Amino acid sequence: MSSERLAPLIVLAGPSGAGKTTIVDRLLATTTLPIRRAITATTRPPRPAEIDGVDYYFWTRGEFEDRIAAGAMLEHAIVHGRDYYGTPLSEVRPAREAGTAVILVIDVQGADQVRKACPDGLVSVFLRPPEFDDLAARLRCRGESEETIRRRLESAVRESARIGEFQYELVNADVGTATRELERIIGSRFPPTGSASCSSN
Ligand code: 5GP
Repeated sequence: MSSERLAPLIVLAGPSGAGKTTIVDRLLATTTLPIRRAITATTRPPRPAEIDGVDYYFWTRGEFEDRIAAGAMLEHAIVHGRDYYGTPLSEVRPAREAGTAVILVIDVQGADQVRKACPDGLVSVFLRPPEFDDLAARLRCRGESEETIRRRLESAVRESARIGEFQYELVNADVGTATRELERIIGSRFPPTGSASCSSN
């Protein structure tokens, strides 16, 4: 397929607990648009219900650094001051070339790298909760430790200062409404206009 017909690349960022994963899961379960979520990689340990290769690729630090050195990552960042997270190029390029839009659920540092590496066909969306007080409650429901919650709330404040770097701001007051709005945004970017390939970071 010619590079003019690369399908859109959607970057969905926003603080932990804003509901990014819930909304993307709902979108993928209900949409008729050709779209898939990239499985990204992390060095953090899996949570009890998480499966390697489904929720994330769970890599050791050494494995992650080898992939970075090999130029196999579209973007990568240390998130919440602790673990590596990143997107393998193999999760993005082949699908976009085949006409399937790819959605990345990543942090603001990663979003910044993707914006620079492949600006064409990029749809960037920042998802935020209606009230920041909701975040701590949502993280507590997940059973996170107080230390983890503290780190994530600090990241949320830092991340939210960068909303202006995104093309769209989406407020998650209601999952159904936010999901439909995200679908409308993505749908408006079909047929794709992307023309550039992505470089590794
Ligand atoms: P969690 O540990 O709760 O699954 O994710 C923590 C944060 O890491 C989330 O805000 C998520 O968006 C971000 N994240 C997940 N995968 C990636 C990735 O591949 N790259 C970057 N930069 N951030 C990621």
